[in-house]
Amino acid sequence: MGYDKSEVREQLTTDDIFQLLVEWGGEPEYTSFGIISTTICHNAPGDGSRKLYYYSNSTLFHCFTGCDSSFDIFELTIKVMKIQKNKVFDLNDAVRYIAYHFGIASSSYDSDINSLEDWKFFEDYDRVKEIQEQKNNRDIILAEYDKKILDNLNYNVIIKPWLDEGISLDVMKKAQIGYYPSACQITIPHFDENGRFIGLRGRTLGKEEAKLYGKYRPCVINKIQYSHPLGMNLYGLNWSKENIRKVQKVIIFESEKSVLQYASFFGFENNISVACCGSSISTYQIQKLLNAGANEIVVAFDRQFQKRGDREFQHLTAHLTKIYEKYKNYVVISFIFDKDMITSYKASPTDEGKEKFLKLFNERIYLK
Ligand SMILES: [Zn+2]
Repeated sequence: MGYDKSEVREQLTTDDIFQLLVEWGGEPEYTSFGIISTTICHNAPGDGSRKLYYYSNSTLFHCFTGCDSSFDIFELTIKVMKIQKNKVFDLNDAVRYIAYHFGIASSSYDSDINSLEDWKFFEDYDRVKEIQEQKNNRDIILAEYDKKILDNLNYNVIIKPWLDEGISLDVMKKAQIGYYPSACQITIPHFDENGRFIGLRGRTLGKEEAKLYGKYRPCVINKIQYSHPLGMNLYGLNWSKENIRKVQKVIIFESEKSVLQYASFFGFENNISVACCGSSISTYQIQKLLNAGANEIVVAFDRQFQKRGDREFQHLTAHLTKIYEKYKNYVVISFIFDKDMITSYKASPTDEGKEKFLKLFNERIYLK
């Protein structure tokens, strides 16, 4: 069982590539053709010139100095792992690394929900602390960060943009949402299902900064990067797992913000939502939801299309159908899908209030 290289590459957006370059210390910048970064392909971060170009059209990099050649994201992964982690990756390792990083599930997943990929790979993966195996179930325990940092970020500032977007003060407090002034970032602590602090993501507030660095990225504070493999966790599961067990339903959103909006609408005590933190749901995440007792998984992604039938619409419906086909034999999968376009372009189902959310929820779609 493995990953299909082109299938994984096809699912990566320019923003994903940008995020990786940020994490690898390439100090990327968006350009008209894609991205310019320092040459982390053959230099340590901070040492290279800005001569590594990424072309969105071809999805290829070109290094104009040391390497003097073109390569794809997997070849870059191999180069970066060698330089930054002193690890020898082959192509398969690189494809898996990227797939796991972005929570892209393998398409060869078909026969048995428990026979997941080659988990041995994780023994090499920096953030994994432990893999627990019980019967056919494998649990990945991510390493914990020092929670003290959260006290420093608890500035008691009122995060007005999020209040305006329907997230209550109580919910922000419970979720320990903070603010990191040096980076103009709202800080969002990520916990695992047992409430262990495993990552800290920042939502950049300034429009220019957001354009430059991407909307969400791992926080870097005092040279510590608080990142974690997104596909290996579900944001919010620590708060919602008991309720999921009771009602046997879960709503899976793309972003943390939607989970907080949902909790603001209905109360934390009624919360049955989680976020996959991207637009891919990993097999591991699905397994987590099944373990939590979900009989129905409601996929509630953003309205990423302008009108019915456009290119984005086709992309989104194909993506959702793929998710359905992959997991339909294990669990009921339904979709919140704003076919009548009652919310705005790119809005999440919770972005425009409780009424619209409930309407979308009640009219959710079951594929046959
Ligand atoms: Zn190079």
